[in-house]
Amino acid sequence: MKPFLLWVTIAVSFTSCSRDEIRPHSRQSTAMETYVSVTTYDGNLSQHDAYALIDSAFAEINRIEHVMTDYSESSEIGTINRLAGKDTVEVSDEVVSLLQASLSFSQQSAGAFDVSIGAIVKAWDFLSSEPEVPSRSKIRMVLRLTGFKNVMVEGTKVFLTEKGMRLDLGGIAKGYAVDRAVEILKRNGVQHAIVDIGGNLGVWWEGTRGVDSTVAEILVRHPRKDGKYFGSLKVGTAGVSTSGDYQRYFFHDGVRYHHIIDPATGYPARDVVSVTIIASDALNADALSTLVFVLGREKGMNFIKDREGVEGIIVWEKEGVLHHELSPGLQGKFTRSDD
Ligand code: AMP
Ligand code: MG
Repeated sequence: MKPFLLWVTIAVSFTSCSRDEIRPHSRQSTAMETYVSVTTYDGNLSQHDAYALIDSAFAEINRIEHVMTDYSESSEIGTINRLAGKDTVEVSDEVVSLLQASLSFSQQSAGAFDVSIGAIVKAWDFLSSEPEVPSRSKIRMVLRLTGFKNVMVEGTKVFLTEKGMRLDLGGIAKGYAVDRAVEILKRNGVQHAIVDIGGNLGVWWEGTRGVDSTVAEILVRHPRKDGKYFGSLKVGTAGVSTSGDYQRYFFHDGVRYHHIIDPATGYPARDVVSVTIIASDALNADALSTLVFVLGREKGMNFIKDREGVEGIIVWEKEGVLHHELSPGLQGKFTRSDD
């Protein structure tokens, strides 16, 4: 089992600012089972104010972790899971809107993205020190406990129809937390900042937008070479997220088993090795990178092309060689590094 490494790394190229304007203040920590980095780049912020705001951003990320975690039985999500098949749970507006967003991604993708994947994820137990391939009968059993149509949301009441069903927001919650942290910085007058939760980035650069701007250089991690980069692209204000089969995985009999599951089979999605999405915010980038990964190369690229303001890079492996495809808006904007 591999420890978490940086999945996407950022370098900021400051094309439009002088050195004084962009004095960085940064803190790193861990939350949501991965690394977190919050950086402001405002020259007019005192050191004291910058770190106070960064601490508020961290407090917000920790708060969201406590609401969304499925590890605690008493968190809102933990309570829904504990009472699956038994009782309805009254939850906060925040949880309702994240569940509604998740269910909408499920509907758009015919279930490729599914927050009710929890029973399957638990069966694979990728965070265990010695993960194993579950038996076929186990997979059949947990497949019956998965299905977004069995997640009932009415007003602020949530009910999972089957006992043993579990919500798992691992494919979307980090992006949401990034957006909330950026919002806190923005609301307090910060003009330039980058929040990174395990490779889910929120780039906030006032007056810039997506791949039309070139302030932050995003280095996309090489899916098969530790410490190397697959390529780079430049963006302004955007959400950027990478889903990869190298983030949580183990090998068994020479086969790689990883944490992005195809809800149709209960096994890891096989078609591609990594997907990077650039969207207007980190929530969309996070959910869409997982969703497109499951859809695979062709359907995934069509899905990206159909969505305004969404761009992506899909990487797949054939006979040991990595290939990539860019969405139309990224043509000429992604530089692949030498392998
Ligand atoms: P990400 O790294 O954002 O692609 O999210 C992967 C995580 O999302 C996994 O560790 C699971 O917690 C969860 N997950 C796995 N497969 C799916 C899926 N098909 N739909 C939604 N969430 C998933
Ligand atoms: Mg995701």
